[in-house]
Amino acid sequence: MSGPPRTLVLGAGCAGLAAAWRLLKRGRRVAVVEAADHVGGLAGGIRVEGNTYEYGPHVFHTTDPEILADIKSLLGAELTSYRRTIQIKFLGNYFQFPLSMADILFKLPPRTVAHAALSFAYHFVAGVLRRPAVESSETLLRRYYGDVLYRLFFRDYITRVWGIPPSQFSPSFARERIPKLDVLELLDKARMLLRARLGRRGALRTEGFVEKLEGNLYTTREGFSLITRRMADRVARSGGEVLLETEVTGIEQQGLRVCGITVRRGDRISMLPCEAVVNTLPINEAALAFRPSLGLQVERSARELRFRAIVFVGIQAARPKVLPATFMYFREHSFNRITDLAHFGFAIRPPGTTLLIAEVTCDSSDRLWTDEALAKEAVAADLLREQILRREEILKMHVFRSRHAYPMYTMGYEKALKTLLEAFSALDNFETAGRQGRFQYVNTHVAMKMGYEAADRLAKRLAWPG
Ligand SMILES: Cc1cc2nc3c(=O)[nH]c(=O)nc-3n(C[C@H](O)[C@H](O)[C@H](O)COP(=O)(O)OP(=O)(O)OC[C@H]3O[C@@H](n4cnc5c(N)ncnc54)[C@H](O)[C@@H]3O)c2cc1C
Repeated sequence: MSGPPRTLVLGAGCAGLAAAWRLLKRGRRVAVVEAADHVGGLAGGIRVEGNTYEYGPHVFHTTDPEILADIKSLLGAELTSYRRTIQIKFLGNYFQFPLSMADILFKLPPRTVAHAALSFAYHFVAGVLRRPAVESSETLLRRYYGDVLYRLFFRDYITRVWGIPPSQFSPSFARERIPKLDVLELLDKARMLLRARLGRRGALRTEGFVEKLEGNLYTTREGFSLITRRMADRVARSGGEVLLETEVTGIEQQGLRVCGITVRRGDRISMLPCEAVVNTLPINEAALAFRPSLGLQVERSARELRFRAIVFVGIQAARPKVLPATFMYFREHSFNRITDLAHFGFAIRPPGTTLLIAEVTCDSSDRLWTDEALAKEAVAADLLREQILRREEILKMHVFRSRHAYPMYTMGYEKALKTLLEAFSALDNFETAGRQGRFQYVNTHVAMKMGYEAADRLAKRLAWPG
């Protein structure tokens, strides 16, 4: 890169591409530095034999008019509305999430229902009278659901998916991830569901009960990854540079300014000088990359923040469609969720086949992370056990991974995060944005908004014109 120093954006996911786009609109010279060989980050996709496997197939949704207008302007008619269907299987039955009173009453044994009702009432009243000295996700979930339902639906499941029990999670985890059971709302839902059930047979659809998504849902004929490719095209057409296969290894600081970024491309290490930086890399890794170090307290806090990883197992199946719904959630298998891409209407090659994507959460130190054969076999065995596929219908399996899939809101993470954000805000020309960059469990539209806002904050602090 020649010429005067540029503003460097670290990471080419949704947040990084949005930040770059905004900086270019403000007339800055911009380069995006990305370790992978493709753009999109978590919302990107891997091309294999003419098909795209996504890191957990994404749908786009937002109620933010600016983000929606920008994405529509990039994709035009390529952005298509989407209606997702979801099923959750647990204890041999299809349950709704959040828990519905109708499901609890009809699908659990009467003895368990009686226990659950007593325990719910006890913990509800106890929670009103006395709050625990130290609040965790466990104390919160017990109060929301009672001990019986907590153990049945949350304790073991959360421990398996996240690797640690709810007692080790900050209350923010349960507050953000698991909707509180409002007694009146719950009764209202039960009434609506009972009415719906009277007119419908078969497995319950759980649309709107998994994660409430704001706004209409969208996809494209090639999935979400096309949105990120179009964002990168716009960055390039506006004069920005996207440097792929370029790993950030150091953030060089002089006084209160970041003066450059050290990168590795293959065997070559070089330094990219910069006028400013928008970071979207995992916040703890960015904090530890500073030279000189941001100090012992920052380093200690950075090491306290953890991410949960996902191993994705893509399966090419010898059937045009396999699952009855787009997304199916399971609680007793190696994978928590499988998606059947046939439901998105993509052209899958060869015709007559579909792609399933199974998501297996783990830590990057687990054997499942390193041993591809083990991950494939665990997923195949569960698909056969669940009678989703027969062995001969599994044509091919591909493994791909995301080390930073979920920020883990462990006990005390708020303090560690605050320490890092304060250290960054003391710098004159450094901003951090995105799901990994701010350690927030957000979706793509929020990551994009964070990218815009980080660019705007830099412009204000550095008094850039425009
Ligand atoms: C399974 C799953 C399903 C999801 N489904 C949806 C959905 O349906 N809809 C939705 O809106 N959101 C969904 N999300 C959330 C969404 O993926 C994220 O909010 C969004 O992609 C975050 O974008 P980001 O740019 O902040 O982070 P990332 O996408 O993680 O981008 C960070 C980038 O930094 C790069 N990087 C990391 N380290 C380095 C380094 N040292 N040097 C250079 N580059 C580096 C990475 O390669 C990556 O490209 C889902 C998330 C998961 C895990």
